[in-house]
This record gives sequence, C-alpha cells and structure tokens, in this order.
Amino acid sequence: MTVPAAPISFAPALAELDARGLRRRRRTVRRGNPESAEIELDGRRCVDFCSNDYLGLAAHPQVIEAFIDAAQMHGVGARASHLVTGHQTEHEALEQELAAFTGRERAIVFSTGYMANLGLVRALAGRDAVVYGDQLNHASLIDGGRLSGAKLQRYPHGDVAALEQQLAAQESGTALVLTDGVFSMDGDLAPLPALAAACSKCGAYLAVDDAHGLGVIGETGRGILEHFGLSPTQVLALVGTFGKAFGTFGAFVAGSEDLIETLIQRARTYIYTTALPPAVAAATRAALAVSISEPWRRERVLALTRRFRELAGAAGIKLGPSETPIQPILMGSADSAMRASNVLLERGFFVAAIRPPTVAADTSRLRITLSSAHRDADVEALVAALAAVVSPE
Ligand SMILES: *Cc1c(COP(=O)(O)O)cnc(C)c1O
Repeated sequence: MTVPAAPISFAPALAELDARGLRRRRRTVRRGNPESAEIELDGRRCVDFCSNDYLGLAAHPQVIEAFIDAAQMHGVGARASHLVTGHQTEHEALEQELAAFTGRERAIVFSTGYMANLGLVRALAGRDAVVYGDQLNHASLIDGGRLSGAKLQRYPHGDVAALEQQLAAQESGTALVLTDGVFSMDGDLAPLPALAAACSKCGAYLAVDDAHGLGVIGETGRGILEHFGLSPTQVLALVGTFGKAFGTFGAFVAGSEDLIETLIQRARTYIYTTALPPAVAAATRAALAVSISEPWRRERVLALTRRFRELAGAAGIKLGPSETPIQPILMGSADSAMRASNVLLERGFFVAAIRPPTVAADTSRLRITLSSAHRDADVEALVAALAAVVSPE
C-alpha cells in the first residue's frame, strides 16, 4: 500500500511562533577586545549583559596561553572517546584538580553540562526509579529525567515540604532528587540544607547542578555547598560546568569513587562521544587556578551585583530575591519583554528577553547577568536605561 506523501511544511508552525512573539532569532556577535564586555551585535556596538563569563576568564591571558600551548602539544581534537584513547593527561589532571576543588574523592569530565546531566540521571535512575525535580530546574535535568525512563515528579519551586510528601508516598525503587544550585533563570538558591535533610530522612539520592554557583558563591568560590556550609557527604553528586564562571567549555560530575566508577560504566553520554579537546581541559585547569589565585574577580562581580540591586532599588525597579549575578526583571508577556530588550539595545545594552518555553507563560523577563568585566559606569548606565524602559508609566 502506498501512502500519498503529505507535503511537508514548517511554515504554519513558524508563523504561529511569529504571531505569539516566540520566534527565536540568533544574533551574530563580534568581539573587538575579548577582555571587555563590549561587543558588536549584528554590527551594533553594545555592552553585553547576558554572558555567563562571571569572572572574565574566557579571555584571561593565562587561560588563553594554556589553551594555545596544549593545542600545540596535543593537537586540536581528542581523536577518540574516553574509553578508547581520548582520555589524555590533561583530562586526568583536570579531574584530579576538580576532585580537590570540590572536596570529593573523584570527578569525571563530560563534554557539556547538558550531557553530564543526561548521563548522570540515566545512570542513577532506572525504570523502577522515581526522579524528583524542582519545577524551575534547568532543561538538561528535566530531559535527563525523561530519558531515564523513570517516573517523573516535579515539586513546586523550592518547596521542600511538598517534596517530602512526594517522597513519603513512594513505595519502592530508587528515589533521586535533582535540583539546580543557583536557578539559571531566577538567580535564587535551592534550599539545599533542607533538601539534603529531606533526602537523608527518606533515603533518597540528591544531585545538585551548581553550574552558576561554582566559582561565584561560597567563601572561596566553591559554590552552593560552601555557601551553606554543607559537607560533601550530604550531596551524592555535584555537577559543575566550565562554560559559566570558568569561561571555557565542558562540565563535570564530582562524587565518591564508586559514583564516578559507575558513571564510567553506565553514562551513555560519556561513553559514546568524543572526549573534550585536551586543550579545552588545559584551559579549564588554568581557569580553575586563576579563579582561586585571583579572588578579587569573585568579590568584584558580587560587589557589582550589590551595586546593581542598590541602584535598581533606588530607581523603583522591581527585582527578585537573587543575590547572585543573575538578576531577572519580570515583564509578563513575551511581547513586553521583547520590546524592552529592543529599546535597551538601541541604548547600547544587550539584555536578552527570556520567553516561553524557557520560562513559564506570563513570566517572560529581562535576564541581566553581571561580570567582573563590567565597569561601574556600565552598570550605572544600564540602570538608568532600565528605569526608563521597565518602570510603570
Ligand atoms: C548552562 C547550564 C547547563 C548546561 O551546560 P552546558 O555545558 O552549557 O551544556 C546545565 N545546567 C545548568 C543549571 C546550566 O545553567
């Protein structure tokens, strides 16, 4: 039997996205001076208030030098996956340094944070498991749960009491709780001490994705566990990424010897993919070292964050409870967020409008991120522009 081929047309779905103000567009960026927060966006000069390069390490001279030296020494590509011949001296050294940095027995490097989360969740949660996730978790944790085939339960944002009820109702199988450390679109922190206590009481595994906390929060930049004074034993698996505060690319999971050994056996996004280029591992080692030896970068971005909040508060701009360099301003509709973003761009500031499906309907927002690469004057001028754009008329 032959089925007449229906004409394939993507046009209606795209037109619908246009009609709802939800079409995503890429903009092409050029950097004149990589150490500055100034960029050219589609040819227009502006200050970038959207990068995750919180410590300005993406263009740090020592990081660049480590990258170039390692590329000359090892070549560009890793040539194979980790379980074949891709796992090289730079990866091994980076893993040991990450284990030391996070105070854990061992760490394993993944090619991206997205892959780390998919691999971790699927390795820990089989079909008989229940995976619990905060409603505002990063997409990669949500997708990790979906791909695992486990039963999924979302709990309301930060609501540990609701999570405990869900955990108590589980009758059998593994329980795995997943949370962002610093929530990527809101900048607030997971209630980690209470989450850890609930997991310990109910015998659940706890995995924390601290992509936006590592390098930034905690007395010495060791992220949300240090911020709350938690011991590594209270969180089974810690996920970190290199593309945020460390300014490079890639990710890791840190935990016990047995956890990491299990991931080597079972994490499919680790096993069936080419290893990270060794030069990226080398650059990340340099970035990790600089994040420790130049604590002024962390102090600077946090001071700029406080300054931003002070100025915005004085200008009557409503902010959320975030104390981190992620500072969202809720706008409501996708349209109003887009309009505000466009006006800011005309005034020389790039602040992305974050719309559904990245955030819930009616919580479209401007998402500002601060970096140690910003100048005081950049932040002052941004707030002045924001005051004109987002304050109630
Ligand atoms: C950015 C991010 C990821 C993804 O990391 P990549 O290395 O960019 O794939 C995962 N989790 C969180 C919370 C993130 O912010």
